[in-house]
Amino acid sequence: MSRRLQDIRTADLCTDRAVREFLRVQGGRLECVVAADGTVFAVSGGLSRRVGRALLGLVHGSLGAARLVEVTPLDFAQWKEANRPRLGAIPAASRNPANRTVEFVFGRAVEERASDVYLDVRLDRAMLAFRTYGFRRPFDQLSRDDGLALARSIWALGTNAQFDESGVCDVAFDFEHGGRQYRIRGNSMKEVRGNSVVCRVRDPSFVLPLEDSGYAPVQVRQIARMCRAPGGLILITGETNSGKSTTLASLMSGLPTTQKVIEVADPVEVLMDHVSHIEIEHYGEGTAQRLNQNLAALVRQNPDTLVLGEIRDGPSATAAKDMAIQGKRVLTTLHSQSCAAAIPRLVNLGVPMPLLGARAFLAGIVNQNLVPVVCGSCGLASHPDAAVDARYRTLFGESVRFLNRAGCGDCRGGVAGQTLVAEVYPLCLDRTGRANELIGAGRVAELERHMRRNGAGGNGCMSKHQHAATKAAVGQIDPEHTERIIGEFNGEDVEGRCGDLVELGR
Ligand SMILES: [Zn+2]
Repeated sequence: MSRRLQDIRTADLCTDRAVREFLRVQGGRLECVVAADGTVFAVSGGLSRRVGRALLGLVHGSLGAARLVEVTPLDFAQWKEANRPRLGAIPAASRNPANRTVEFVFGRAVEERASDVYLDVRLDRAMLAFRTYGFRRPFDQLSRDDGLALARSIWALGTNAQFDESGVCDVAFDFEHGGRQYRIRGNSMKEVRGNSVVCRVRDPSFVLPLEDSGYAPVQVRQIARMCRAPGGLILITGETNSGKSTTLASLMSGLPTTQKVIEVADPVEVLMDHVSHIEIEHYGEGTAQRLNQNLAALVRQNPDTLVLGEIRDGPSATAAKDMAIQGKRVLTTLHSQSCAAAIPRLVNLGVPMPLLGARAFLAGIVNQNLVPVVCGSCGLASHPDAAVDARYRTLFGESVRFLNRAGCGDCRGGVAGQTLVAEVYPLCLDRTGRANELIGAGRVAELERHMRRNGAGGNGCMSKHQHAATKAAVGQIDPEHTERIIGEFNGEDVEGRCGDLVELGR
């Protein structure tokens, strides 16, 4: 007869000294409870294999029986909440159980370093998932009704927000966990079987220093020089989830406090003392008019630097263009797959090509992707497929490492974080004027060749693949996974020159 966690009370727990000592030594971090009959209730994936085996062995030795029952993280949290010692705790009756679920889900998301929380409500169930280091992973399952109740209580935390099951709705609220304040922004859409809810989790006080983002040291210096140019447009480009807004925030934090800096964004994610943050919603009624009014006012505010969250349409492209023509510094992001591809993209959004080629109009372009970092403790030294292994070994040498999806205690599914692979065009350093000519004439392919060969004041710019190759060669990133993100490495990019490339990056 199997017992359920819900039936266990504090009085039913194992009181054996050895077992209690084992749990105490683990610092109460183990997501499990041991009942007096030897049943170990543990959150699926919550115990490492080694600790789980040690605990079951100990329980069996002490109680004469041991059995593992896996429970979901939500069930476990609800059990803990219901059986928490009353002393000092907030009286459970004063707290809404649905809110406790929200707290639990976002608390876990923060601990798992998730950037996004997904709630997919379907006909027969609801699924929760987290995105950590770029990977989306299932977290828990609920009934459809509990899923909808969770969505409603998320929306109840926002001001003036109500969950609309039959349409599109947004919500924003602050969430505190572990002494830090996080900003949650949610969006829900009706899907044919239910609702698709996505919540972004941000720490508004967190700014990653440029040197720690993963650019090569030479790229950090080039970006710094772009930001020191007297004016002009600086474009941070990349695809969705390529760390563009993180880069924008670190550049913004590095701007001199003696300047008037205005940021216009939707949403504003990071707040800084020396910046005036203006939030303009890009969706909803009267958006174009509101945007135009605000952008006209910007000219009167006369900032030294405009930070524009994103160029995504005609009006935002016009705003960036008008400021840059006046000789202001404009920092912004743009969706594009390479530095050179940003040029036709801006032309499509109404910026005239000859203007793009004008001297000092474009100070520089950065293009980047985020790539998972291989865990230093569990990364694999060889690829299971011998032919694939041989190819990467030829390209990158013996230090190459691969993601171990089984993962370990030091990582999340083999991934220990994310790093950037990037290409930087510091156009302000091109004193020959050749780059400007090529941009003005829309000769994008030639621009690429020119920048590679003699872009950065005659030294040539590292391509994104070359930058990635330096990281694959030292085992920091998995080359196979990297190719899925940025496309295949070709022999020319890496050609037995990994050592030189590492050198080139300095
Ligand atoms: Zn690991």
